[in-house]
Amino acid sequence: MSKVLELKNLSYVYGTGTPFEKTAVNNLSLSIEKGEVIGIKGQTGSGKSTLVQMLNGLMKPTSGQVLLDGEDIWANPKDIRKIRFKVGMVFQNPDNQIVSSIVEEDVAFGVENLGVEPKEIRERVDNALKTVGMYEHRLKAPNKLSGGQKQRVAVAGIIAMKPMCIVLDEPTAMLDPSGRREVMNTVKKLNKEEGITIVLITHYMDEAVQADRVVVMDDGQIKLDDTPRNVFAKVDEIKALGLDVPQSTELVYRLGIKCENTVLNANECVDLLKKTLEAKR
Ligand code: ADP
Repeated sequence: MSKVLELKNLSYVYGTGTPFEKTAVNNLSLSIEKGEVIGIKGQTGSGKSTLVQMLNGLMKPTSGQVLLDGEDIWANPKDIRKIRFKVGMVFQNPDNQIVSSIVEEDVAFGVENLGVEPKEIRERVDNALKTVGMYEHRLKAPNKLSGGQKQRVAVAGIIAMKPMCIVLDEPTAMLDPSGRREVMNTVKKLNKEEGITIVLITHYMDEAVQADRVVVMDDGQIKLDDTPRNVFAKVDEIKALGLDVPQSTELVYRLGIKCENTVLNANECVDLLKKTLEAKR
């Protein structure tokens, strides 16, 4: 695998030299491989949003480097807008991301700024809408859509720009369970079928366990960085950082059942409980 993003000794300080000075990201280094899905977890205020806004140049690091495909994104500050086409961002509130009154115009907005030929814009917009399952809604007004549908339109606007990586900052926090499922299924599909690298900040356990890797942040630094199974095996450590583990993991932990592989979901939990009960018969 090759690295798509490499963060080297990255720091971000708010309000330097003021009484409110705050180091939000503190000398953090992280490599993200092409095609990976990375889940980022951490308490509110741990620096997650600040970190991801440095990935596409929305915020400039106080010190350190962000390398995209091996190149420092701030090498030519005038070109920083181009980075935003390569690393797309989806935010929490779908309403804040809508810029047009018709779905397909909204999806076209970013790609129009890329200077792509009109015929190709049409193709890219149609394909993006089909990929997120919103093609039949292309002529609707975005404000007539559900939260999950609006987020899928936001994702379509980004994939129309053919990015290398999509960063999602709690994209499902304002959605109902079906909206959450829609968005997560779309994100997984993009990763599997298009090979797009995904960086996902999420508070939801069921979303974090679907990642290839979970990075746990605390006070601007990375405390854990491993597969979901290895991260959530460290129940005491996770709780000490003010975070939860998946409910199934918690149940097995509280029952004191020892198992080789940490349980991450209800099915695995049921299997383990059955085996444990059978062994006691
Ligand atoms: P998270 O996304 O994990 O909740 P943030 O990156 O939003 O964390 O915040 C990290 C730290 O930086 C927090 O202590 C927060 O209060 C502080 N912070 C965030 N935005 C600002 C800002 N605009 N001005 C000053 N401090 C900020």
